[in-house]
Amino acid sequence: MTAVPPQFSIAGLTIKLTDESVALDDLRALYKEFYHRSDAFKADERNPHHCAAGCSHCCKQGAVFAVTLVEAALLARAIHSLPTAKREFAKRAAQRLLKEQQRIFATIEGPVDQPGAREEPLFSARISALNAALGPTCPLLVDDLCSVYDDRPMLCRAYGFPVDAYAVKAESAMVFRSLCVLYENERLVDYVRAEDLKARLSDLSIRLTGGRDVGRFTSVEVVLADFE
Ligand code: SF4
Ligand code: SF4
Repeated sequence: MTAVPPQFSIAGLTIKLTDESVALDDLRALYKEFYHRSDAFKADERNPHHCAAGCSHCCKQGAVFAVTLVEAALLARAIHSLPTAKREFAKRAAQRLLKEQQRIFATIEGPVDQPGAREEPLFSARISALNAALGPTCPLLVDDLCSVYDDRPMLCRAYGFPVDAYAVKAESAMVFRSLCVLYENERLVDYVRAEDLKARLSDLSIRLTGGRDVGRFTSVEVVLADFE
């Protein structure tokens, strides 16, 4: 008997997932590759690195972020496996944040926000506005620890490193520094190369829908996502 492909409900869309387990295995391999590259960066003592368990500044004070579909599927599976109390806590916090997301997104000029057909620069600007206005804590942070650590998205993995794929653009020049404010005045001699990994996240996401590009979702929408 052929297994029925799961349907993923996220942000008002229902998406049939193609070869989900293969895509999620490929995503885990991609995360492992990023781990090896960031580990090599850390091994050079000229590159200061302060990330440690319990250091959760990055998960607070503005922790809504964009997630590709394949990452959303893995993260939603991890949330589904959480103990009921943790899962319900995260979902209640996400419900409250979703209302704020809709309110703040509507204040930014541009086409109405439409999950599945978002324009990337506008979507990023809307997320930045939400973080600047509310400085929200990630609903998945529990006692200063990430409750889905093994399956956390790429951006969370990259946050404490200067990564070319997430480089900050300042005065027309690319500045390679960590996104984390705790690294603001640090001198770093190198950066982590991950442009190819970021592109692969998009490719995997398109493969997962069977060929459709549905763009990215907010981390709040992922917490509220479900499988049918
Ligand atoms: S990214 Fe910054 S806040 Fe987050 S764990 Fe690393 S040093 Fe701490
Ligand atoms: S998913 Fe985990 S690592 Fe990422 S912001 Fe939330 S609590 Fe922090």
